[in-house]
Amino acid sequence: MGALEAAQTLPDVIILDVRLPDMSGYEVCRRIKGDPRTASVSVLQISASFVSNDDRVRALEAGADGYLTHPIDRMVLVATVRALLRLRTAEAAARQAAEQWQSTFDALSEGLALIDSDGKLVRWNKAFAQICGPKVQLDAGSDASSFFAVLLGTDDPLRQNGRRYSAEFEIGKRTVQLIVNRMGSDTEHQGKILILNDITDSKLAEYAIRTAEKLAATGKLANAIAHEINNPLEALTNLIYLASTSSSLMEIKDHVSHASEQVARIARVTKQSLAFHRESERPIVIDVGDLLGEVVSLFERTAAQRRVHLSLSRQPRVSVCGFPGQLTQVFGNLIRNATEAAPPTSEVVIRVRSILRGGHEGARVTIHDRGSGVPEEIREKLFDPFFTTKDLKGSGLGLWVSKTLVAKHQGTIRFRSCQGDRKSGTTFEVYLPTAMNT
Ligand code: ADP
Ligand code: MG
Repeated sequence: MGALEAAQTLPDVIILDVRLPDMSGYEVCRRIKGDPRTASVSVLQISASFVSNDDRVRALEAGADGYLTHPIDRMVLVATVRALLRLRTAEAAARQAAEQWQSTFDALSEGLALIDSDGKLVRWNKAFAQICGPKVQLDAGSDASSFFAVLLGTDDPLRQNGRRYSAEFEIGKRTVQLIVNRMGSDTEHQGKILILNDITDSKLAEYAIRTAEKLAATGKLANAIAHEINNPLEALTNLIYLASTSSSLMEIKDHVSHASEQVARIARVTKQSLAFHRESERPIVIDVGDLLGEVVSLFERTAAQRRVHLSLSRQPRVSVCGFPGQLTQVFGNLIRNATEAAPPTSEVVIRVRSILRGGHEGARVTIHDRGSGVPEEIREKLFDPFFTTKDLKGSGLGLWVSKTLVAKHQGTIRFRSCQGDRKSGTTFEVYLPTAMNT
């Protein structure tokens, strides 16, 4: 029993004779190795009487780390004990490394889990268990597919063959992102590394920011609209007052004519803002060429008054998915601007083409005029709300509204302009993807 007590003090090595007064040495060794507190103590069993191979096997099976029989050479004993000590140090180092690794693994806020090539759960960290929640039971060696079927309602992520898979799922009230990476390069026998991230909070934050931005933009717009309407309103009040106090019919006519210009300006501002906020319900498939044909015919008369000719060149069957009312407004604005910029007897050329951009099919519409171009110093402001160089005749909302509407269609709008003496002009280009991502 002395040996068992000695083991409790956790020495590095215990040298144990097989023949003991009260209990066999084999049994003592078994108990030392069976007790988790003392299991790491090395046991070197020695015996004078049990010298057969069977005895050696029995000792080693009972957990002994070494077995020496009498007569024991002093040098051999010392060397054996040294070897056991080395083994123990190596074991301790390995255990420490494993502990460090597990602590690191557990300290990560991302959930991590490993799946072996047979599709069994091997290992996971604390965050993984936490994100999975109490709904599912994590067992080492259990089938990962059925685990995910219970957790996410599908085992799709595990059946993807790409190198990397990423998708968002709902677990309870939380939103999580699951990333599946393959281990190694052999496609047949591969384990997988799963990364699970709780992205609920960042999603909420993102939503809050977006809403705040939207509100700020709406507030800014409302403010700007009020401002824009206020100026002509003040002018109107003055003109009406002047007209009502004047006794000359000529003067009155003059005031009324100015007043009607102001009314037209207010009408322009409200028309743009109203159309902008009117939403059609669902995007539909639109033939872009047909749509531009209609817009061109809407503006042909106004253009003709300025002796500007609108010419439409279109590829057949260029279609996008979108809101026809909004796109009519976009192209109407651009064609109106081009017509206003174009010199008399010139042509405004509108082209509709289908193109590939970034691997995505889409429609490209260009509107080109041979006007005097956009001066360098105002290029940056062109798309700002209420930026206009047309004073009372413009609302300054056309390009801003167009840009916003094109962005709603996940498209882009840009322009090129040159201001040479001989050759000048501006081309606006709108790109619209055929299919919108939802
Ligand atoms: P508005 O036409 O009411 O002024 P927009 O937002 O449509 O407002 O256009 C803003 C400004 O951009 C215009 O006032 C004009 O200075 C400039 N612009 C737009 N289109 C053209 C064009 N095709 N050529 C030259 N300048 C243009
Ligand atoms: Mg305009």
